[in-house]
Amino acid sequence: MKIVSILGSTGSIGINTLNVIRLNKNLFDIFGLSCNKNIELLIKQAFEFNPRYIYCSSLNESKKLKKNLPSTIRSKILYSKDSNNFLASHQDVTHVVAGISGSAGLESTYYAAKEKKIILLANKESMVMAGPLIMNLIKKNRNSIIPIDSEHNAIFQVLQGESNSKKFLKKIILTASGGPFLDTPLEKLESVTVSDALNHPNWAMGKKVTIDSATMMNKGLEVIEASFLFDLPADRIEVLIHPQSIIHSMVEFADGSYLTQMGNPDMRTPISFALGYPNRLNSGVNSLNFSEINLSFFQPNYEKYPLLPLAFSALRLGHSHCIALNTINEIAVNAFLKKKIKFTSIYEINTKILNSINKIPINSIDDIFEYDSEIKIKTHEFIKKFY
Ligand code: MG
Repeated sequence: MKIVSILGSTGSIGINTLNVIRLNKNLFDIFGLSCNKNIELLIKQAFEFNPRYIYCSSLNESKKLKKNLPSTIRSKILYSKDSNNFLASHQDVTHVVAGISGSAGLESTYYAAKEKKIILLANKESMVMAGPLIMNLIKKNRNSIIPIDSEHNAIFQVLQGESNSKKFLKKIILTASGGPFLDTPLEKLESVTVSDALNHPNWAMGKKVTIDSATMMNKGLEVIEASFLFDLPADRIEVLIHPQSIIHSMVEFADGSYLTQMGNPDMRTPISFALGYPNRLNSGVNSLNFSEINLSFFQPNYEKYPLLPLAFSALRLGHSHCIALNTINEIAVNAFLKKKIKFTSIYEINTKILNSINKIPINSIDDIFEYDSEIKIKTHEFIKKFY
């Protein structure tokens, strides 16, 4: 029996994780569910899955949760701010689904790695910000990290059984849908709205990652995530636009072979692979109809998607630039979602601030939090001054 904590259970990763668990209930015991503030859904989930603990990170909502939790639900309510860390590191937990969106997921992912949990990683920001530290812990503790991000999950799948993959792997190719603005002319990007940007053609995801897909920063962050996860330098990672999102990424080997994982663009596939590993589970995902599929691929336009080359340069510059890029972007995306800045201002803010900072050494999780706060202040000041 796998004993699972699902951090971010009411977000799109959490909901899909529970959709897969619902189909395979006898294999899992839910230890904890945590959410940001959607207590109505958290109560429903607690009622159905009977977790030992539930936690809601908004103080107001957690007060409501205490009042409204029906007495038939046995789950204990957690209150303290570090409850996600508790759920990620409790001695009874075997698997942690890191499904919190953004940098808020970093600390609990780090705790899970420290406490030797098997991490099912959807929170790419924690890998971008702390990849070298987390991967060192994973190596030292001999625990494992199974990516849920569909591209990395695809690469993880095709490397199964390739015991000498380091030696013979030539490069990895991350595929990208191109997002909602693939066919939008460059000059029109300035005036696109929040709802235009949230309208992703293939994937149903949370808001942050959907905006990141529209700017292609999502793919940039995934390049950094892949570099840390698979221990590959920037020049052995490529990005290819593949609008149908059927091929979820590829690996090229020294002998000219390419291996790929494909399937419908449905997060239940990578989630069920990670939950079931090393076995396969029924995910509820529909079969592909190959006679109706046309697959196409082309190079991304760097002029239209400048955040993609910016992420490559952050990776080349080193760990502190990766942290900074993640932090600047998160604040810029938030400002766009709140309609404070234009879509293309996300490009400018990321580029200008990243190009203005110097490299610093990062040796601990505290160094990361400290640098993150510093860049947050810098970014807020920059937006206040120029927008
Ligand atoms: Mg992805």
